[in-house]
Amino acid sequence: MKHLIKTSLSLLIVFFVFQNTSAQIKERSEIPDKYKWDLSVLYENVDAWKQAKDELAVKVEKLDANKGKLNESGEVLHSTIVSFFDALKDFYQLIVYANRLYDEDLRKSENQELTQQISNLGTKFSEKTSYLSPEILKIDPAALQKFYDDFPQLKEYELFIENIQRLREHTLTQEEEQILASAGLITGNPTTVYNIFDNAEKPIPKVTLSNGEEAELSASLFVRYRTVPNREDRAKVFEAFFNNYGKFQNTIGANLAGKIKGDFFYAKNRKYDSALEMSLSGPNIPVSVYTTLIDQINKNLPTLHRFLDLKRRMLGVETLNYYDLYTSIVKAVDMQFSVDESQELLLEVFEPLGEEYVNTVKMAFENRWIDFYPTNSKRSGAYSSGAAYDHNPFILMNWNDDYNALSTLAHELGHTMHSYFSNKHQPFHYSDYETFVAEIASTMNENLLNDYMVKNAKSDEEKLFLLGSYLELLRTTIFRQTSFAEFEWEIHKIIEAGEPLTGEKMSAIYFDIVKRYYGHDEGVCTVEDYIKYEWAYIPHFINYTYYVYQYSTSLIYATAFAEKVKAEGQPAVDKYYEILKGGGSDYPIELIKKAGLDPMSSEAFDLTMKRMNDVMDQIEEILDK
Ligand SMILES: [Zn+2]
Repeated sequence: MKHLIKTSLSLLIVFFVFQNTSAQIKERSEIPDKYKWDLSVLYENVDAWKQAKDELAVKVEKLDANKGKLNESGEVLHSTIVSFFDALKDFYQLIVYANRLYDEDLRKSENQELTQQISNLGTKFSEKTSYLSPEILKIDPAALQKFYDDFPQLKEYELFIENIQRLREHTLTQEEEQILASAGLITGNPTTVYNIFDNAEKPIPKVTLSNGEEAELSASLFVRYRTVPNREDRAKVFEAFFNNYGKFQNTIGANLAGKIKGDFFYAKNRKYDSALEMSLSGPNIPVSVYTTLIDQINKNLPTLHRFLDLKRRMLGVETLNYYDLYTSIVKAVDMQFSVDESQELLLEVFEPLGEEYVNTVKMAFENRWIDFYPTNSKRSGAYSSGAAYDHNPFILMNWNDDYNALSTLAHELGHTMHSYFSNKHQPFHYSDYETFVAEIASTMNENLLNDYMVKNAKSDEEKLFLLGSYLELLRTTIFRQTSFAEFEWEIHKIIEAGEPLTGEKMSAIYFDIVKRYYGHDEGVCTVEDYIKYEWAYIPHFINYTYYVYQYSTSLIYATAFAEKVKAEGQPAVDKYYEILKGGGSDYPIELIKKAGLDPMSSEAFDLTMKRMNDVMDQIEEILDK
């Protein structure tokens, strides 16, 4: 429940986006309706929304009616949970409408006001229901069993209740909980310090490129300059950029160590053995999933090394260097797709997932679930939102006719289909799915798209572009993110063993990991000394705790599912639907098992590496021609 409210509040966070209003970008009114989402399915108009919000406000006032009484009977507990979810469902729908409307045009203050109104109601909602989790947690398991026997309807919420009760051992007394909560004022500080330093106060290094251009290496420009075609320029850019972090390694390191100590402070006080165990306990993921990922990826480093060697060959260099990694091995091929063309194409791409899937995607196109074009002051980027349980999900796009737009749409449609099927097959209280499974549905679609495009490529050049981009995706998402996961684990272990952790030590640990992953000692890829400071550039280590590993696991499971669907056809599709239709009806690991993969076995890794090797075979075949 805590989790549900948190999710809903995170939907409210508003990032202000500054967009260049160039002449080509149209006003929203100039876009034909069929390319814009239809929010009127949620509420006829803003007045109807306001009325619904006022009605919910009345309900919210009554949400604490049973405060202090949840241990009285199964019936009281049941009716309280029912009222909670009933109100939460309305609340989500109100948020979805307010936020979508706001994202259409960030200039409109009247829309911003709606998001503020619903945010205020959200605060009230949290206050009125804050007693729920603690009271449910306090119900004695024997008493709870009697509740189920006396009032069998309560069984419908068993997983929801169990999810709260299983934290019993890790929940403290009310006074202790208050102290822990107030510690947040201090433990959040390293994150603030890092972000101020990295985004504002850190000096920006400059280098002069071979063409005389003076390159200022801010974080965003580094991403551009690290791909420059001239090799010496790249080397210069990397050296200047990372040595700049090196100058501050002990400051950034001491700060990061403070954050890691904070993680352990919470874990220890909540009686977990480690911060890793505590982080994974939320979605109930066994620690062995994490260790399996690291073990398996290390075992499969030869596949990464094969790719790096292929990259070296395609770049035509004697020895590959770490600063060559972001240079494209293939010429970007100019592929253009209009919205209409992409719709037709995607219906074919998704054919392996069966008729039901394709027909639902068709509905998304025909019934205006998607807002396609960039318009003045529309929110940038892309997302899918499926939180309005009784209605269709919505997708925001900023379409620009290139391959990236097409693959982004395939990705977001994966989330949208996941939400649609979860909402359709699960009661509201089990419709919300965990991050751990969310990106499976989206990256499965990217896999299918790549397959389709390769099969239908018009030239070898196009094929190389598609296969090459796919390999880069696997390198950066599977291998690079796992190396981060390994680093994160190593530095936590040092703090948890009571040993000192300095920036210098972090650099040494990071350097060892990167050299191992990239085959430095085997002569696969030279990792220059200054790369040891790269950890200081990765904001995830300070902004999250044990989050990045999910990028790797999601893509590995999705690739494995895609391989199974290709090899086995319908039976594998039917199983895959366990995830799409399962929502939050079971723990994510259980859903993945039901869908036919054991996260603790090597199967998913074997299938993914086989796929990666197949792609490299195809590239070599073209090159050998
Ligand atoms: Zn996604």
